[in-house]
Amino acid sequence: MTPQLIDPFARAITYLRVSVTDRCDFRCVYCMSENMTFLPKKELLTLEELDRMCSAFVLLGVEKLRITGGEPLVRRDILTFFRAMSRHLDSGALKELTLTTNGSQLARFAGDLHAAGVRRVNVSLDTLDPDKFARVTRWGRLPQVLRGIDAARAAGLRVKINAVALKGFNEDELFALTEWCAAEDMDLTWIEVMPMGDLGNEDRIGQYWPVSEVRAQLATRYSVTDLAHRTGGPARYVRLEETGQQIGFITPLTHNFCESCNRVRLTCTGELYMCLGQEDMADLRAPLRASESDAPLIEAIHKAIGLKPKGHDFDYSRQRADGQVSRHMSHTGG
Ligand code: SAM
Ligand code: SF4
Repeated sequence: MTPQLIDPFARAITYLRVSVTDRCDFRCVYCMSENMTFLPKKELLTLEELDRMCSAFVLLGVEKLRITGGEPLVRRDILTFFRAMSRHLDSGALKELTLTTNGSQLARFAGDLHAAGVRRVNVSLDTLDPDKFARVTRWGRLPQVLRGIDAARAAGLRVKINAVALKGFNEDELFALTEWCAAEDMDLTWIEVMPMGDLGNEDRIGQYWPVSEVRAQLATRYSVTDLAHRTGGPARYVRLEETGQQIGFITPLTHNFCESCNRVRLTCTGELYMCLGQEDMADLRAPLRASESDAPLIEAIHKAIGLKPKGHDFDYSRQRADGQVSRHMSHTGG
């Protein structure tokens, strides 16, 4: 299908990341505070509204949908939504339906996700040490996540592990995580931690460990080859020649790849963020709810894409007062 969402800088928008809930069964220290106030249900898009929203984007040329959150698999009846989206895979309009999850519910959902057409899943996992895992996620339990990963692979899903790089926390597990992923044939991506929201007191655990240092440490043990391929996002990839594994590095607010940015992010309340590093957003819930026809929604989507900024380096100081991005990652889904 010819992409119809072309922004002012001639970038085709073909990738939509959708947060389906702000809730989560974990409280990762870099993402949420322990006592979160979640949105009232009426603020959330219903599953039918999420379907209308995503289907409008698919109609307009979006080929890849990533479902995220909060924790997407704690949203009630979320399988209904995945199953509904699989019709766009069947029609060929959608090339990929995928999700980012903390893995806690995967043992329950893996088979059904595969049946709905999901083939790959990103699982966030920062440590293989059960005590450290409990500390960083506060409410999470490692064995449950490992069972989820096993279930996903048994169901035929390809798993990629996402680890947040935390100095003094998982630095000493760089090689253990790398080797575990190599042994299990899983790709691994390191994410640079961003100071999010107003978490304030979390710096004891989350010291900044730049992914450039992660890469340099890997190079002390492996032959690291830079890979040219990009996904239009803020990830760079290398191959470890000894294991053949692909390792990614994500600097969420990197300035370097804006020119190839192909994505926008929809929150669970129907706000469309055109850029992760900007505060600007368009409310798509109002046009969606205003009419049974999708025409106002489609017009609002076109208008929003017309406002997608070139990048986020220009207004960086304005966006990050005191080094903080004011919304939580669980709001836009990362
Ligand atoms: N709950 C799901 C999960 O954890 O994979 C999906 C949502 S979570 C917000 C998406 C990703 O954002 C996770 O990989 C998580 O580690 C990452 N993340 C959360 N807060 C972050 C932060 N402050 N800096 C960098 N990455 C963060
Ligand atoms: Fe939940 Fe994911 Fe945030 Fe952790 S990173 S608190 S699992 S949304």
